[in-house]
Order: sequence, then C-alpha cells, then structure tokens
Amino acid sequence: MANEEKFVEDIVDQDDDFSKWYNQVVRKAELADYAPVRGCMIIRPYGYAIWENLQRLLDARFKETDVVNAYFPLLIPKSFLEKEAEHVEGFAPELAWVTRGGGEELEEPLAIRPTSETIIGHTYARWIQSYRDLPVLINQWNNVMRWEKRTALFLRTSEFLWQEGHTAHRTLEEAEERTRQMLEVYRSFAEEEAAIPVIAGRKSENEKFAGALRTYSIEAMMGDGKALQSATSHNLAHNFAKSFDIQFLDADGQRKYCATTSWGMSTRMIGGLIMVHGDKSGLILPPRLAPYQVVIVPIWRKDHEKAAVNELVDRVEKMLKGKVRVKVDRSENTPGWKYNEWELRGVPLRMEIGPRDVQNNNVMLVRRDNRVKEPVSVDGLEIRLPQLLDEIQKALFQRALEFREQNTHTTESYDEFKQIIAEKRGFVRVKWAEDSKAEQAIKEETRATVRVIPFDQPEGGVQGKCIYTGKPATCEAIFARSY
Ligand code: AMP
Repeated sequence: MANEEKFVEDIVDQDDDFSKWYNQVVRKAELADYAPVRGCMIIRPYGYAIWENLQRLLDARFKETDVVNAYFPLLIPKSFLEKEAEHVEGFAPELAWVTRGGGEELEEPLAIRPTSETIIGHTYARWIQSYRDLPVLINQWNNVMRWEKRTALFLRTSEFLWQEGHTAHRTLEEAEERTRQMLEVYRSFAEEEAAIPVIAGRKSENEKFAGALRTYSIEAMMGDGKALQSATSHNLAHNFAKSFDIQFLDADGQRKYCATTSWGMSTRMIGGLIMVHGDKSGLILPPRLAPYQVVIVPIWRKDHEKAAVNELVDRVEKMLKGKVRVKVDRSENTPGWKYNEWELRGVPLRMEIGPRDVQNNNVMLVRRDNRVKEPVSVDGLEIRLPQLLDEIQKALFQRALEFREQNTHTTESYDEFKQIIAEKRGFVRVKWAEDSKAEQAIKEETRATVRVIPFDQPEGGVQGKCIYTGKPATCEAIFARSY
C-alpha cells in the first residue's frame, strides 16, 4: 500500500507549483522525456499515441476542405531565407545552421527549417503558371527547429512536430477567406476533439508572424490562468509571392502575384490538454484523443476466482475491440496500483471486473473526471460505453469553459488591470486602441500581452477609451500572461 500511495503522493499540488506539477505529470505519465540536447524532447509511446490521434482527426478535417498532403525538404538554403526581409529578421535568432557536409565546408549554409514558407514559395513559383493552377492547397506533417531560449516539454521545444499548411490563391480576398477557414478548423478541432474552449481572433501587430499581413490565432486558458496560443493562421497577402516571384497569368491576360497563407498546430497542443484538464491525481484525457478510452482492471483475491474473472475480462475485451480503444491491465501490479497509474495517465474510464461482477454479469465503470461509479450489465456495455465517453468529453469542455469564464475579468482602470494581472489569475478583457508601443510598455510592466483581439466584439463597435493611452478604443482585447 505504501507504494501505491507514493505513486500520486509525489505529484505536487497544482496550486503550490503549477509548472512543477506539469513537469511531473509529463514525466510520470510517460508522455515525454528530456533529450541529450537542451530544448529537444523525446516523445514516449503514450505521448506519441495522443499525437497520432490528434494528427488523424485534424488531418481528416483538413481534407474535408480539399487540402492535400506533401513533403518538402528539411534544409533551406540561406539565400531563400534572406528573400523576405521581415521573415528573416523575425527568425534569424532562432535558426540552426548546417555548414559542413561530407567532411567539407558547404558553399552555402543551410538552415534547418524553422517553418517552410521560403522553400515552398520557391517551389510554388515553378508550379504555378496560370489562374487554372489555383488554388494550391497543400499541408505537410513534419518537424521544425527553432532555437528557443526558454523551453518546456511540449509547450516550447527547439525541435517540434507540427503540420504547416501553405496555400496560394488568385485574390487577396480568397486568401483571407482561407486563412479564416483554417482558423475555424482549428477552433472546432480544439473544442470538439480536445475539449478545450478557445477564443478565436486576430493577433496584435507585435505578436503577428514575421512576414504576415495578418495573423489569427486560437487562445486557450490553462489551469493556472495563463494563456496558450494553440494554433495560428496567417494571411501572408502578396509578401512571399513578391519575394519568391509566385505569379500567374490571369484570365484577363495580366500577370499577377498570388496571395498566400500558412497555418500551423504543433505538439504544444498536448501540453494544452494536460494543463487544461489535469488535476491533482494527474492527467485527464478527453476521450476523443485518449490512446486508451477504457482500461479494464481484473480483480480477484483467491486463485479459484482468477479464471472466472479472466474469462469475463477476455469476453468483454473481445466485445469492445474495434468499437472503443480498450486496454486490459494484465500486469502483476495490485488493483490499487493500477487504479493510481491509470488515473495518473488520464484514461477516461476504468472498468473493474471482480468475482461478484462475474456472478451478476456486470462490470463497474468509474469515470476519471468526477470519479462517479456506475454498474453496467455486460450486455448493455456496447450501448452505454460510447454514451459515457461522450458525456465525459462534453463535461470536460464545460468544466474548462466555466473555469475560463470565472477567470476572465474586465476593467476600465489600468491600476486595477495591473492588480488583476499580479494577484489574480486569468484573462483581462479591456478596451484597446491597438498601439504597439503601449503594448510593449504594458508587457514590460506586467508581463501580460495582447493574446488575441477576439472576433466576438460588441455589436455596433467599441465605445470608450483605451485602458492605457486614453485614446478612443478601436476594439476589445484579451490580455494575459502566456506560455
Ligand atoms: P507559427 O509558425 O510561429 O505561427 O507557429 C505555429 C504554431 O506552432 C503556434 O501557434 C504554436 O502553437 C506552435 N509553436 C510555435 N513555436 C513552438 C515551439 N517552440 N514548440 C512547440 N510549438 C510551437
């Protein structure tokens, strides 16, 4: 028993040290491990299984919008990166270079891609000739490298896995529409599959992507009230097309520049799942992304009970295989140990099967999110299990939404704003005149930045003064400290 208790005892309380809690959960749930190179990460099978589920579901949503997948190379010639001035300036501090190959100094240094706008821009210039070639709607699943100074497992690593979509269009309006459409894909994915409520909107000038006309993002509130930028979608307008000469002959016989977009979601999302849903016992995974949706724990005391229990366990496993993701824990650990372990690893439902259940042709289901127990007849499982998983998925979303609402504040006074940021946690929604210098000053003073200018704005426009400059406000903005 001592060991069983120790399993969870070692996790610090979220309220005492949230980031320590986070790291302990990542490590103990065997999601990821530190790598020999600082800032890199080893994704362990359980963490990678979450990524595979995320990838499969997000990829399907992309394909519903006519996006197709391709693959572009890891190495990008230096001259490509230098073509778009803002882009190279923004990414220069984060680049890793390959300068030698085959024992020789390379003629031109090659960057490990931090993102692929440049190499894809170069390629699209060759592929696109006529308006008939448009739109081009390509995504790639890959790894990128950004030499990050402050790193955290999943949330900010130097190498990370993501998808990057890159589209090219005939008009700027069409590119804008696609940028917004992909943000909507992210929003619905985050809310429906990850059960994470997000605020969709536009980024401030200070926070937008290097080289973009406009960046949109979805922002989520973590369990400590900080914000996590969970995905971004950029309207690159004609910027990259001009740098890479992506032109097409339009129907009117004129040569025109394409308008392009790019959009990405990364392994950071797994960090979001942990920090939105987790509790003092560890991870709570939303059923749609959980590697195992149900874990079966066989229970017996005496040897003669074992055979009957196992017989029912096997029968239930066979019945459920292919319908829900089910794992039977047949290890030698005690049931108590197993409960703790699978709670820590966030499996949405535990199914206990013991000698009395065999007699009654029942099983006992225990929800991870609220620990409510429910006996279910074996014959009713195929119907009840999917219902319960669905209920858990919805409950997790609802709980996170309520938490966000409880921790979102409004104020018209900058003094109060500072107090909220310093003492309370969460988002602060204020009137804002979109002044970059003011944003920088607020960041230096409070460490909070504009996370997003929500699409959802007061009807008829914003009345009143900017919280910082006193100038007429142009919008409402969400400020918060962030990951
Ligand atoms: P960006 O190309 O900078 O817009 O990044 C696209 C998305 O990737 C962001 O919205 C983040 O969610 C994620 N991301 C950016 N940098 C990192 C990083 N160092 N580690 C993990 N995810 C990242």
